[in-house]
Amino acid sequence: MGADMYCAICCGPFGNATVGVGRWTYIWRQHHLRQPWDLEPVHPQHLPGAADTGHHCGEGSAVETSQEDSGEDYNYDPHVILDEVEHGQVRWVCDVYLLGFDGSRAAFFGPGSHEDFSFVNMDAELDPFGNAQESWECYTDTMQQDPCYPFHKPCYDVLARALTGKKQMTDAEVDRLYHVMRKLGEDCGVSLDLDYRLDGQEYEQFWVVQRGKEYTVTSPAESPAVSAHLQSVLQLERFRCSSGDAATVPMPRGQDLFQTLPPEILHSVAAYLDNDQLLQLLTASRHASAAIRHDNWFWGLRIQSTMAWFFELLDYLDQADSGAVSDFDLKRVFVWANGISRGHVGMKGLFMVVANRRRIWETSCAAIRQEYGTTL
Ligand SMILES: [Zn+2]
Repeated sequence: MGADMYCAICCGPFGNATVGVGRWTYIWRQHHLRQPWDLEPVHPQHLPGAADTGHHCGEGSAVETSQEDSGEDYNYDPHVILDEVEHGQVRWVCDVYLLGFDGSRAAFFGPGSHEDFSFVNMDAELDPFGNAQESWECYTDTMQQDPCYPFHKPCYDVLARALTGKKQMTDAEVDRLYHVMRKLGEDCGVSLDLDYRLDGQEYEQFWVVQRGKEYTVTSPAESPAVSAHLQSVLQLERFRCSSGDAATVPMPRGQDLFQTLPPEILHSVAAYLDNDQLLQLLTASRHASAAIRHDNWFWGLRIQSTMAWFFELLDYLDQADSGAVSDFDLKRVFVWANGISRGHVGMKGLFMVVANRRRIWETSCAAIRQEYGTTL
């Protein structure tokens, strides 16, 4: 029967991201054919669009369905999945890349394929240590070797940007990353010991496919399609500077606790707030809003410092230096980007790319970066 292990960066599966309708999936069968004491029950998500009952039973046809329990809930919607689908699986998640160590140096190599449990198979010629090894163990070291850490290539590329600001890591940086992985991966069999914001999809024996959460298996790679879509969205009039909108924002009555603070102190206060808290401050204080609301310099820095995961937006706003986007209202851009990049059940469209990247950046990349900064 075996078990899954997960990408150390996104905690997504290496396979088992099943797409389609009309067929009971492997994952569905795992959940429904095992004994009740073997697995806690998983409650299907009753989401809009999940009502089609036109499936044709495959190997699991002996299992009776009911109105409360649809096998479709355990497939990703083919109309929502953005990435290539091959043999009913999201293709990009199937390639496993490894960060390995031979006792003297670390290396990043691949692709291979997940075999079972914590093992990855790979062509012997891809062994970077010259031993023609074909089977590699991840996270644990029952083979008395230094364990490998498995990634998807797009996730590794995102991590490289988070750690170094570049798309490629040097050999010394790869070495350093390996030692960080050893620290964060101790005593964990299937992923790093982090909260990846997956709400339990990864904690079963196998990856739990949930319709409506397609964004969690959407490639986080920098996307020309997102860039093109972003350009068209930002052409909308609502992102242009216009006067007078501050007066339309309802403000609470009573004393404004921030009215005695000069702008530079307000900017310092803002630096300690996360993005949602900052927007709450502007809603609560007319003085803070007046000081910051139309300060494009402030909002430009805020986007750069807190939305580093939105590669396409930062590239686009770089054009501001040439004057191409000089009439933007960057506060509106900020509010919009903060909202559309938040992954949620039922999410659809190109910004799933950014939502999954943001999840990765704010969870594993942040934790790895923190440890990386103290590892020399
Ligand atoms: Zn990944």
